[in-house]
Amino acid sequence: MTSKAPAIVILGQGSLATARRIQQRYPDALIHGLAGRVKGDRQYLEFGATLRELYQRDTPIIALCAAGIVIRTLAPLLLEKGAEPPVLAVAEDGSAVVPLLGGLGGVNGMARDIAAALHVAPAITTSGELRFGTCLLNPPSGYSLGDLEQGKRFVSDLLAGETVRVEGAAPWLDQAQLPQDAQARLAIRIDSAAGVPTADELRIYPRNVVIAVSAGATDISNLSVQALAQAGLAPQSLACLLAADSDMPRSELQQAASALGVPLRFVAANANVAQWLGDAMGQPVSLQVLDGVAIAVAEQPVDPQRIGRPRGRLAVIGLGPGAAELMVPAVRAELDRATDVLGYETYVRMAGPFRADQVQHCTDNREEMQRARHAFELAAEGRSVVVVSSGDPGVFAMAAAVLEALHESSDTRWHSVDLQILPGVSASLATAAQAGAPLGHDFCVMSLSDNLKPWSIIEKRLDLAAQADLALAFYNPISRSRPWQLGRALEIVAQHRTPQTPVVLGRDIGRPGQTLRVTTLGQLTPDQVDMRTMVLVGSSTTCMFPRAEGGDWVYTPRWYGNKPAG
Ligand code: SAH
Repeated sequence: MTSKAPAIVILGQGSLATARRIQQRYPDALIHGLAGRVKGDRQYLEFGATLRELYQRDTPIIALCAAGIVIRTLAPLLLEKGAEPPVLAVAEDGSAVVPLLGGLGGVNGMARDIAAALHVAPAITTSGELRFGTCLLNPPSGYSLGDLEQGKRFVSDLLAGETVRVEGAAPWLDQAQLPQDAQARLAIRIDSAAGVPTADELRIYPRNVVIAVSAGATDISNLSVQALAQAGLAPQSLACLLAADSDMPRSELQQAASALGVPLRFVAANANVAQWLGDAMGQPVSLQVLDGVAIAVAEQPVDPQRIGRPRGRLAVIGLGPGAAELMVPAVRAELDRATDVLGYETYVRMAGPFRADQVQHCTDNREEMQRARHAFELAAEGRSVVVVSSGDPGVFAMAAAVLEALHESSDTRWHSVDLQILPGVSASLATAAQAGAPLGHDFCVMSLSDNLKPWSIIEKRLDLAAQADLALAFYNPISRSRPWQLGRALEIVAQHRTPQTPVVLGRDIGRPGQTLRVTTLGQLTPDQVDMRTMVLVGSSTTCMFPRAEGGDWVYTPRWYGNKPAG
């Protein structure tokens, strides 16, 4: 059963009202609207690509359009193994709800919920579900199905008229209309014992086993599998791996948990593994302590979310210049998994919208170190924190501040956080791409702000970089508190460049109202530039020529000196 928030996808204004009603049922769901047609919570440009991407990312899809369109769009993906999230088509006016895919992901349950919200009957077509009032192959969270193919045969036998016994505790089946008979040949068996199921059994495993990994243990995934076998327990009954807080940075633990397909949780631990394991579970358990691991079996399924805490994560991400298409997919995925988002308010807003469960911590642009420390504090609690920068986080932005905060800290909780820096398209590159290729050869990137470095260093670097005939990219070129610096910088550059040197000014590139202007060093004046502008100054070889649609192409050739043959 997937727990991700669904995406509600609409094509036009006519579906918005229905979409909002569905959103009331799923407050975490975002409405994705076709750009130019309807304004949802998020814009998309291409319906097919968007739907396929959501599907591949295992996001439940509620598409307000014809079922046929959804089927044709997703058809190429259906033969591939992999994610199969719930997919539903809902009539624009809310008059029909059709579950299409994701029977095992709970699509029929969603169809019932949405239909109830819209006061219509869902178009449920799954025979087993209709007959028994539940999908036997989709047990509730806390339980896992043994074998899907065998399960399908089992349900067919029941539909053909066979009766069934229930062995073990399956509270969710109490309401089901199963043809129960104590003498039946077929049995649904709910327990965590190991062993190959017989042909007459449908096995459902309660996830009631937790394995605690000791500090010195190696080859953890094999060790766990062996320990489960030795204890006579089915691997499917494993709910999570548990380790000591002090082991958080060990990457083998995460690898083992991924290999076993279970979450990894941490607790404050001492030498007595049996004791802390028992304490962490919070319910009566039986324990077996083996070499390197201890196994606890609880009476009830265990919710891993309630045991200890996860390893916190802190990702410093770059949004790119602004436009959603220029954000790298890894950053998009990171924003989706975030519990907390920190940053300068403008950038946090640009990264949104966020779900109701995601906390936004907006701060002033100048409080960078404070923001970095706050991010570590939150991540150390086990949260999934994102620090937002525009462009690339490593270019005059938050990544260095975050690393500086970590470097200065001796807090092991901070050093245990899973820290990731995810790149973005920096303003100089986004601006250059729009102008052509002004940075097509060696170039130098500088911030003209003297807030964090002496102006004398800036002058020296400008002088040397201009002398070295590098193309120049100026970030933070000017601001109200730094009015004269750009003029002085241009004077220095002019000592080494002709007035005809091409200059590119990109303002709010990738954002609404963007402007791109191509001029020359001789014509450039500081009043053409503000703090939202990127200034690119060419080298001696940078040239320009008119483009057919108007304006100019600017580029710096790849070669220097004599043009190579060919
Ligand atoms: N980390 C950012 C840069 C932050 S410094 C990046 O990699 O792009 C802020 C400066 O970047 C601004 O003063 C401006 O010069 C430039 N800048 C940022 N976004 C911009 C945009 N969309 N268009 C033009 N310049 C931009």
